[in-house]
Amino acid sequence: MSVISSQPKKVIILGGGSAGWMAASLIHKAWAKKGTEILLIESDVISKIGVGEGSTPSLRLFFKHLGISEQEWMPECNATYKCGISFPGWTSIDNPAYADYPAYIHPFYSQADWKTGNAFMHNARLRREGIDVPAHPDDYWLQSYLAKNFKAPIAFQQLRDEMDYGYHFDSALVGNFLKKRLLSMGLSHLIDTVDDVNLSDSGQISSIITKDNGAHSADLFIDCTGFAARLIGQALKVDFIDYSDCLFNDRAVAIQTPIDCSKDIPSNTTSTALSSGWAWQIPLSNRYGNGYVYSSKYITDDEAEKELREHIGPSSKDQDARVIKMRLGRVSQHWHKNVLAVGLSQGFIEPLEATALMLIQHTVESFISSYEDMQGAKREVIAQQGIFNNQLNEVFESIKDYIVAHYRLNSRTDSQYWCDNRENKNNSARLTALLSAWHTPGEDFEAELHRHNAELTYFAPSWYCLFAGKGHFPTSLNKPSSNTKVAPVAEIIKYCHQVSQQFYNHNEQLAKVYDERWHKLEAHR
Ligand SMILES: Cc1cc2nc3c(=O)[nH]c(=O)nc-3n(C[C@H](O)[C@H](O)[C@H](O)COP(=O)(O)OP(=O)(O)OC[C@H]3O[C@@H](n4cnc5c(N)ncnc54)[C@H](O)[C@@H]3O)c2cc1C
Repeated sequence: MSVISSQPKKVIILGGGSAGWMAASLIHKAWAKKGTEILLIESDVISKIGVGEGSTPSLRLFFKHLGISEQEWMPECNATYKCGISFPGWTSIDNPAYADYPAYIHPFYSQADWKTGNAFMHNARLRREGIDVPAHPDDYWLQSYLAKNFKAPIAFQQLRDEMDYGYHFDSALVGNFLKKRLLSMGLSHLIDTVDDVNLSDSGQISSIITKDNGAHSADLFIDCTGFAARLIGQALKVDFIDYSDCLFNDRAVAIQTPIDCSKDIPSNTTSTALSSGWAWQIPLSNRYGNGYVYSSKYITDDEAEKELREHIGPSSKDQDARVIKMRLGRVSQHWHKNVLAVGLSQGFIEPLEATALMLIQHTVESFISSYEDMQGAKREVIAQQGIFNNQLNEVFESIKDYIVAHYRLNSRTDSQYWCDNRENKNNSARLTALLSAWHTPGEDFEAELHRHNAELTYFAPSWYCLFAGKGHFPTSLNKPSSNTKVAPVAEIIKYCHQVSQQFYNHNEQLAKVYDERWHKLEAHR
């Protein structure tokens, strides 16, 4: 595979979870009209992961790129809007140092936050230097106000600056929606299970052998087989880099509960710290998705289920619970030989910031441009693969650092799990440097972010929200002197409140997007 055309002749996508159908959608859009033959094979006996209900703003771009409107996909997938993620319970509020920081929202910020966001960073910088000024992130970001007031991130009138936002959705329905659309566009589809793989002398996959339909060959295989990693791991034996030394959680238990869509539906995910991990609550239009992500070293499955039910309350009674095993880490090479791994087969960091679908999208989009660039650049495949894999590994590592920082910065003292997470020193040199810089007066934290290329996925405002939201400031503070320029928080709060009044209530906006389907949901409540 050293001489290459600008798109492959035949692609087989193995796996029909979110990764498979998202990859198929993007590859179909890029190459189907240019003559690439695409076949998606999925098993009807190996189940999908069946969770993954929150996104980052990149999902908006995914649907936009495919020309699919919110009116088309959201009602089909029971989707709602997402302004950010709230993190209650990650601090020790009995400790006076953290008493004012019981929770914070990591908002999806945009150009609309430019002024107030800068004000937040300015005040947080002062507080880091020991000056007593308000620096809780929730006061400064518009999406925090929208989330707290059950608003959608959609204004009555187009604002000067476009808002960025994410979604909540039923992942199985998103897969079905994309599948239906692609099948209607003529994509080839086979339901069968791959039992074996044939390798050529050069170690490429020459064909995959299905249980009932024989061998299938292609010049490119996309491995979307989930944690099984049937092609990239089992067949090609690409190394797996395990993250369990810095991210302890290896299980989740999920429970769905009813939602009453005649009441206000939240427009944020809530990720509450529990005794041995954290619980998500994701509001869809027809139900809540709930789950507890935990470490089996600290709590048994039964204990975790019990704790989750207590956390959810009476609505969890009689609802089934499902335990999911997770493998945290990533492959060393996402594109190897003639296989590209996408989704859980390429790796999984942690669902804490709901980044997995974003990584699927990023992997496939950058693969397509990488593949197309190769011919123009007259570059050998192996060289292009090296560049692609290095860049993608950097993205994985940058997200991992941000997630690990969540755990390192917790201040809970009520369980061994949280103490061990805080004390765990198995993190990257970059994260060590960032933790040290934030806690060292006089250190330029932004320069440190820049020096360590730490803003690949999370920009400075996200890092500031993380440290400030968890109350990481000096305990001894001095009043600002008369010549200290302090951003006026009272005015900012008033301004953000006023601006948030120009946004639709979440339910109101959903009713607009769902049209008559919303009334059906209301009738079924
Ligand atoms: C607890 C938890 C919470 C999560 N929350 C989020 C979130 O909020 N946001 C987010 O973006 N992501 C989240 N994720 C990740 C997200 O669920 C996945 O990234 C996404 O669903 C993609 O999964 P997948 O398609 O790679 O794998 P799967 O859904 O497991 O699909 C694998 C597919 O491969 C097929 N298959 C496997 N082996 C074979 C074979 N031999 N032959 C034929 N077919 C085969 C299966 O039948 C299936 O169709 C979460 C994950 C977990 C575990």
